[in-house]
Amino acid sequence: MTTTQTTPATAGTPAANRPTEEHTDLLELARHLSSAERQRLDRISEHLQQTVRPAAIEPWNAEEFPHHLLPGLAELGLGETFADGSSPLFQGLAHCALARADVSLSALLGIHNELIVGTIQKLGSEQQKQTWLPKLRRLEALGAFCLTEPEHGSDIAGGLATSATLEHGQWRIRGSKRWIGAGTIADIALVWARDTADQQIRGFVVPTDTPGYRASKISHKTGLRIMQNADVDIDVTLPESAALPGATSFSATNELLMSSRAWVGWQAVGAQQALLDIARGYALQREQFGAPLASFQLIQAGLATVAGNLAVSTALMGELSRLQEEGRLTMLRASLAKATLTRLARESAATAREILGGNGILSTHEAAKVAADVEALYTYEGTHTINMLIAGRDLTGTSAFV
Ligand SMILES: Cc1cc2nc3c(=O)[nH]c(=O)nc-3n(C[C@H](O)[C@H](O)[C@H](O)COP(=O)(O)OP(=O)(O)OC[C@H]3O[C@@H](n4cnc5c(N)ncnc54)[C@H](O)[C@@H]3O)c2cc1C
Repeated sequence: MTTTQTTPATAGTPAANRPTEEHTDLLELARHLSSAERQRLDRISEHLQQTVRPAAIEPWNAEEFPHHLLPGLAELGLGETFADGSSPLFQGLAHCALARADVSLSALLGIHNELIVGTIQKLGSEQQKQTWLPKLRRLEALGAFCLTEPEHGSDIAGGLATSATLEHGQWRIRGSKRWIGAGTIADIALVWARDTADQQIRGFVVPTDTPGYRASKISHKTGLRIMQNADVDIDVTLPESAALPGATSFSATNELLMSSRAWVGWQAVGAQQALLDIARGYALQREQFGAPLASFQLIQAGLATVAGNLAVSTALMGELSRLQEEGRLTMLRASLAKATLTRLARESAATAREILGGNGILSTHEAAKVAADVEALYTYEGTHTINMLIAGRDLTGTSAFV
């Protein structure tokens, strides 16, 4: 009679020498990828962990953008995951691997893939696609998604004040935008403005070297410090062809925002993988009272809390990517995932940071860096509250916000 081998191959190996992968992909989600996508993900993860993760710490501290990392990311195809036929699970796990290495870069490339490449590919004209997609896909050009305004954040759909007027075959676009990721370093801005003719919200492709586009960096952010958010003033005149033909009302953005909300859920998974890596590694090597921190019960409970939150987050995103593949992502699903997973990530961040003691507030030890970034995840792409209210509206049939 043969017996089934159930003991893991690594049982008996000292914990410090065991691959973290066992814990960070507890549910073995990556096994659902094709072998080609699996190999590509391994290559991406290796580059991100070995090259990008250490190289991102100093620019994060200095609030600078590490342009020198872009060619390596482009070579791995990270500028085109949305457009290259990759499965939703692969796209999610690639986002996740990016967030595990650096959350700011994952934010920038997430917006790039979902909201810039995605918007032009789905809503752009043939000319806009031919002009911009090849450069964007190779990360030779970057884009900025300009929706939020100084006076309108959560209520942007109803309140959007930037205007667009078509006169003599040219669009005059005027207004101010706030919090615009990559606003100061982007080559194009996708600007959302209200058409003065019919009050509908339209999307426009605005090259950032157009006279009248002015971006100034928002400094002193406590999280996502690499991301180069900007205040943008716009007073530009552009040919009629600058309008995105598929973006003639706000509902055009809804599908994009739904998918980018789900992507923030993947960021929460990647951030928690990083937190588990960091806290576990530290607890195994740091000794107090003559023993490794990892041997203390309360430290183990902390690590298990992060691992549990991570497993729940991974499971939810795995199922969501299946629904996405079938075209069944809904705003309720995306909003609940974003709100719930960023809440769990916040708990994981506080727990992991604590395990590092005083070093837990040094960004060079990374736990504090990730914790600060998780705060931004909780708030952007629709705040936690607004996403909960979207779910509440669906659950009750009553909107608590108009
Ligand atoms: C790091 C970062 C990157 C960003 N990147 C971009 C980008 O690239 N492009 C872009 O267009 N935007 C971007 N944003 C903007 C982001 O989407 C907004 O910050 C977000 O929509 C919230 O708007 P607000 O900050 O103006 O907050 P407000 O809308 O002023 O909300 C303030 C608080 O009030 C709460 N609140 C609001 N309304 C209600 C209500 N009805 N009931 C209960 N509570 C409510 C909110 O939940 C929040 O806690 C980014 C933001 C950040 C922080």
